[in-house]
Amino acid sequence: MSRKFDEKKLVVASHNAGKVREIRELLEPYGVEVFSSKELELSEPVEDGETFIANAEIKSKSATSESGLVALADDSGLVVPSIGGIPGIHSARYAVNPETNERDFSYGMARLNNELGDHDRGAYFACALSLAWPDGHVETFEGRVHGCLTWPIRGENGFGYDPMFIADGYDDTFGEMEPNEKHSISHRADAFKKLIDACFKS
Ligand code: IMP
Repeated sequence: MSRKFDEKKLVVASHNAGKVREIRELLEPYGVEVFSSKELELSEPVEDGETFIANAEIKSKSATSESGLVALADDSGLVVPSIGGIPGIHSARYAVNPETNERDFSYGMARLNNELGDHDRGAYFACALSLAWPDGHVETFEGRVHGCLTWPIRGENGFGYDPMFIADGYDDTFGEMEPNEKHSISHRADAFKKLIDACFKS
């Protein structure tokens, strides 16, 4: 049995304003006042875990111990099993172009496509969501969306590796899909559903 969230306030352990806004909207029906770790000036811990779940828990535990509030954190990325699970927890870093030292997903997707060669193009996005309480209790959930990687890339919507990912049962890439459609089937939606069902519904 998961622990229920029974507080008025929550801190989202992210400095990404878009992510915080999305979570604020999702938790609105439950009457939760959502703060970001930026607003509370919390530090950003080193993410040295080996899984999405471990990294989400590092962030949620750090934010709850610094703020004294229950903290929610996520970690996500793309996994290609046929080539050892890369880019995995390194999805953001994998897309840094060595020539500019900037994150550049055109570079990251081309790099991944080269590494794929003739290997199986099956892939999934994963998202871990971790809710941590100041007394040390943690509830963590992982969501996934399975599909395959296509080339050349297609679509201008979304972000990151979206233009090369086609979810099972669909023809459009995540980069071509309407945002609402992607949001209804994504790894993040799957993880949120598990979290809401377990910790926010009575
Ligand atoms: P973070 O968990 O927000 O740091 O995301 C890690 C990285 O995973 C992002 O920079 C993207 O490269 C990749 N990623 C995570 N979710 C998605 C998604 O929905 N679409 C495309 N790329 C994603």
